[in-house]
Amino acid sequence: NSRFDVNDLRSQFPILERRIQGHPLAYLDNAATSQKPRAVIDCIQRYYLHTNANVHRGVYQLSEEATRAYETSRDKVQQFINARERAEIIFVKGTTEAINLVAHSYAKPLLRPGDEILISTMEHHSNIVPWQIICNQTGAQLRVIPISDVGEIDMQAFGALLSPTCRMLSLTHVSNTLGTITPIKQMISRAHQHGIPVLIDGAQAVPHLTVDVQALDADFYAFSGHKVYGPTGTGVLYGKREILEQMQPYQGGGDMISQVTFEHTEYNELPYRFEAGTPNIAGVVGLGCALDYIQAIGLAQIGRHEQALLAYASEALSAIEGLRLIGTASDKAGILSFVMDAAHAHDISTVLDQAGVAIRAGHHCTMPLMSRLGVAATARASLALYNNQADIDALVAGLHEVNRIFK
Ligand code: PMP
Repeated sequence: NSRFDVNDLRSQFPILERRIQGHPLAYLDNAATSQKPRAVIDCIQRYYLHTNANVHRGVYQLSEEATRAYETSRDKVQQFINARERAEIIFVKGTTEAINLVAHSYAKPLLRPGDEILISTMEHHSNIVPWQIICNQTGAQLRVIPISDVGEIDMQAFGALLSPTCRMLSLTHVSNTLGTITPIKQMISRAHQHGIPVLIDGAQAVPHLTVDVQALDADFYAFSGHKVYGPTGTGVLYGKREILEQMQPYQGGGDMISQVTFEHTEYNELPYRFEAGTPNIAGVVGLGCALDYIQAIGLAQIGRHEQALLAYASEALSAIEGLRLIGTASDKAGILSFVMDAAHAHDISTVLDQAGVAIRAGHHCTMPLMSRLGVAATARASLALYNNQADIDALVAGLHEVNRIFK
């Protein structure tokens, strides 16, 4: 393995050269979206300059090349998450669409009044609302696994919620608000003992951890391209073939069919039956480049770097007067949520912006989690492979400034 040189890596992200309010940009909102390396930007540009055509239809060279580029990304995703076969990889526009697809095509037809869908207190709205929609349509109910005050799953309560009427467990792999890494392997195995299929929301996991869907035995695994150094509008739903094969598409259109008459439609084979319409071809090609990019660095090295920075930042933030870290699970990815006595999260963010430090303030699309923790909002700094100690030092200096201004 080559040495992990964060300054060399930073130079591959053109946006990090920007200055904000006269200061170097310290980009610490990576849980919202990550920046893109030149390799990904160039790859998308190259696609549009040289290869652009629609996929799966043209019987001419350019379309065949576009199809090959798009389908090569599918192979890369398959290998990246260690799926058994490429037909188990469905391209969608993001985690949100992946979860909606499973809710509508898998869960909804199964659900009867009194059935249950199980999620945790730490879910993003995109892993709550799609289930509520289909619960309202079917008479099923949403059940919620409680968490401890530090933001860890209550495993005993989880066990008690695995009832015979539970039809689905849908769980975040890493909390976007707290950074908690949930013990999904163990939870999947326990759900399976009760015959309950499991969807894992991997939006915040895939940029930081090595994911092996076969080792996890996940039935579905969803993630977004834009959080893993790829373009916006790209995402992946992995599903086990035997489950995907039983599902009916919930969106109809071009490309997802094999035969259409006015009376009847035969659907296309996997994975195309779930990819109605012209996909985000350039985006998917860019996502393939992003996966190449992080694999060349190595997720193990990225994880080590981020863990070291997380430890550095946790210690530095803990020393700031009137600051309280929210979410201190023992197993955490590089996300730091906090509140301060002196100022509201939005004011913290505004002061930090004056120093070129970009963080997120608010409920982070986890309003039920906020109410469980008894806070209206938090400030959140989230790490990526290109963050360095200087970014954390700028954050810490900005937080001292918050205390100076507001106290
Ligand atoms: N789940 C989690 C844990 C997330 O952090 C996010 C994005 N903030 C999503 C789901 C939704 O992802 P997207 O907006 O890319 O569909």
